[in-house]
Amino acid sequence: MSLHDWINKDIVCSCGRTHRCDIEHVVVEKNALARLPECLAKYNHILLVADENTYPLCGEKVRELLGAKIEQFCLLTTEPGEPHIVPNETAIGAIEQSLTDETDLILGIGSGVINDLCKYVSFYHHIESGIIGTAPSMDGYASSGAAMILKGMKVTATTHAPTLIMGDTDILCNAPIGMIRSGYADIIGKYSALCDWKLSALINNEYFCQEIYDLVMDRTNLIRSLAKDIRDRKPEAIEELMLDLVLIGACLTLVNSTRPGSGSEHHLSHYFEITGLIYGEPFFFHGTDVGYATIVTAKLREEVRALAEPTFSTLSDETREKCYQKIYSHLWTEIRDLQNEAGRYANPVNEIYKEKWAEVVAILNECPTADEIATMLTDCDFDLSLFEAQYGRKKIRNGVWFAKDLKDRYSVLWLYDAIFCGEKEAAEILA
Ligand SMILES: [Zn+2]
Ligand SMILES: [Zn+2]
Repeated sequence: MSLHDWINKDIVCSCGRTHRCDIEHVVVEKNALARLPECLAKYNHILLVADENTYPLCGEKVRELLGAKIEQFCLLTTEPGEPHIVPNETAIGAIEQSLTDETDLILGIGSGVINDLCKYVSFYHHIESGIIGTAPSMDGYASSGAAMILKGMKVTATTHAPTLIMGDTDILCNAPIGMIRSGYADIIGKYSALCDWKLSALINNEYFCQEIYDLVMDRTNLIRSLAKDIRDRKPEAIEELMLDLVLIGACLTLVNSTRPGSGSEHHLSHYFEITGLIYGEPFFFHGTDVGYATIVTAKLREEVRALAEPTFSTLSDETREKCYQKIYSHLWTEIRDLQNEAGRYANPVNEIYKEKWAEVVAILNECPTADEIATMLTDCDFDLSLFEAQYGRKKIRNGVWFAKDLKDRYSVLWLYDAIFCGEKEAAEILA
């Protein structure tokens, strides 16, 4: 089945729901740009958004193809000291300044950040957005969320999916190799996300759709088999990578949940990004962090599933709050409040773990081992030593205990915490 079997139609599903995801045009192929005039025929007042890196890739070509339909142009420039465009108030303001009363489409040229900015501004101004993707770097193209940095904090804003997603193979194949690898690793992370989804369905009775689960699993296996061709930038493999990044992003809309695409490995990647922002420390591209974190969460599953039966540790609220302060600095009260509201610490599910232990282990066994995930990454030329070199053992360990607290989302991190995190472990963090 192709991507087009899953979008722009009602899918009556065995899970009991009817799924739907509308994205009017997804065009990923060689010379895709030539189809721009046809795909955007109904728009006449387009605002084009690009940055200094993406405009030279195809900006002039897009102008040539769309002619007078492009009425406004916004070239985003990086702020002093920043290597990339930051999706913050400054960038939002720059795009808003270029809007007119007549603007009917914001068309971005770029990848994650530009797409998120275009989705964000278009959503709040009740117009549509489109994206000409310049790198197969992450799975957010089709999603309705926009990852923004607002008031210095990373937030996922609820916006809308673009109406057009275009990927021209010639441009995608020439993207920086680090961005291509990042897209590949974002998909490898689905082994972890899917396992967390199934585990949560068992433990929390959370909604689960076998068909979407199978779809994402099939696509993840396919991309895994293409690792070397993706590394070598073979056009057919890069095209498949881009299509599957779009499809998996669309799956989040299909089930109206981030479950098919994001679990403990994404929580860890958010932890590296947020602590990086708090302390001015470096972090990797989103997908790259996800890939490395997938090795970490696979290791946790191995530790847990080796137990014949679970025994449990606890941490006092007081110690936990001290750990929050140590790890999250001024954000700690927000995290405490989020967890108080979520109530997972107040309502442990230890009895359910005990009762369903055989099923828990069976689900954890479905996830590839840490060694297998490591091989998937090295097949695409990842240097595994860079992960620990960048973050150090302690920071990684702190994330294993407390990345889960950034979200109200169950994952294997909660199970691992319930079994292994006690006062002794917390003392190491606080030392
Ligand atoms: Zn379903
Ligand atoms: Zn991701």
